[in-house]
Amino acid sequence: MRSLSFSLFRPINLHRYYHKRKKIIWQSFIFCRGRCIIHFMNLNDVWTNALRELELEIPRAGFAAWFRQAAIESFNNGVLMISVPSLFAKEWFEKHYHSSITTILSAALPNLHHIEYSIKKNSHPIIPQEAPITNIFVNQKDGLNPKYAFETFIVGSFNELAHAAAVAVTESPGLTYNPLFVYGGVGLGKTHLLQAIGNEIKTKKKEKNVLYTTSERFISEFISLIQQRQPLASFKEKYRGVDVLLIDDIQFFAGKTKCQEELFHTFNTLHERNKQIVFTSDQPPHIIPDLEERLRSRFAAGLIADISDPEPEARLAIISQKAKEKDILILQPVLEYISLIFQRNIRELEGVVTAIIAHSRMRKTPLSFEEAKHIIDQCKAQTKKSITATEILQTVARIYEINEQDLSQRTRRKEVVVPRQVAMYLLRNDFNASLSYIGKKFGGRDHTTVMYACKKMSHALKTDKQLGDMIKKIRAHLEGTSPSP
Ligand code: ADP
Ligand code: MG
Repeated sequence: MRSLSFSLFRPINLHRYYHKRKKIIWQSFIFCRGRCIIHFMNLNDVWTNALRELELEIPRAGFAAWFRQAAIESFNNGVLMISVPSLFAKEWFEKHYHSSITTILSAALPNLHHIEYSIKKNSHPIIPQEAPITNIFVNQKDGLNPKYAFETFIVGSFNELAHAAAVAVTESPGLTYNPLFVYGGVGLGKTHLLQAIGNEIKTKKKEKNVLYTTSERFISEFISLIQQRQPLASFKEKYRGVDVLLIDDIQFFAGKTKCQEELFHTFNTLHERNKQIVFTSDQPPHIIPDLEERLRSRFAAGLIADISDPEPEARLAIISQKAKEKDILILQPVLEYISLIFQRNIRELEGVVTAIIAHSRMRKTPLSFEEAKHIIDQCKAQTKKSITATEILQTVARIYEINEQDLSQRTRRKEVVVPRQVAMYLLRNDFNASLSYIGKKFGGRDHTTVMYACKKMSHALKTDKQLGDMIKKIRAHLEGTSPSP
């Protein structure tokens, strides 16, 4: 399960906002792990968004049955109360869904301290009672959410290989690139692309059986069958009987030997029959830890396409599209400022646009550059604040498998020098820390040493792909998207 430490115990951040009619509206800016939502105490929106993500993540059986009657009841002093209809449901939520719910909601509510469940017979559920039990946001049969389409996917040089490969796959599934392996950092569009492949094939080639799943779901279904000593036949049939299998976030298979074996056989069966397989991961196959060699080589046997950080034009195009979708005018300098300040995570970009849109809606006029800048700067400050220098050092040390103390000691051992320079570079480049602060943090080094390290890293990153992948991995861990190393 993903770490929650970034999102807990964050101070509540409330701003008074004076409405035109001099009414005071309390609003909180909510940012976390690249998400930023303006929250007008509308917990329904928070819950609806969480349901969309939960539906992709948790084992499907019973999703609608359990979540139909659940709702957010209140959110006070960091305690979020979720109402459920019975004691049985309460226990079920605590046992089965608590960690998924906590992970997802703590990303949307950074000041969330903990979650409790209360029994309430007639709560106001978000999922309409009349909705068919099988179909809410995601099609239960194939796991696809129609929201993710190629039409809304902006292409730039940062993702054009992955996009072109994805399109090719939809044109002749199983024949062009098999498997297709897409990797990239958090919030860069992997899930969007994977789902778009599924939706496109589903529309254009109706005879093809498509199935999207997350690794977590595959793993949890498999493990629960094993634990309950139930036959695996229907599980095997489900995953091996499709024409197109899309598996998201394959890195979660790391260290799970039995599940890897099952995946290996699933892969072989499908591949032998020329059935298309597409994987996504936050890292390329050779860096995913604790992965069997035979699986690693299967992943690498087709096409590996990476999605890197979006370039400025692409960022601008994405922001403009999001504003257009919402039918809101955002001034060009504001768009440019956002794309300058938020450089990596597309989810982060969406978040800040949401904040601007919410303000513009209230004002009913486009925000001036100064007003928008104020909001954007606050968004940025919030996303940065949540990660401390110590966490960066700890993460770098864990990923390079060295002692955290070694980073700040004067040793020049080769296995420590690069991680130390990486940590310095991240502090400087991603977190704007001053040279002297970084120097102090690393055992009282001179600021010129820090400057040298940062320059060296910037330079090396232009050619050293392996170093680039390591840094991406560290960033992904810092943003809380990967399991603990
Ligand atoms: P990942 O799976 O890589 O973490 P997602 O696919 O969930 O990222 O993308 C995060 C958000 O950014 C989604 O809302 C997605 O629609 C949006 N997004 C990502 N890439 C693009 C793109 N190229 N064009 C438009 N929107 C994008
Ligand atoms: Mg994803």
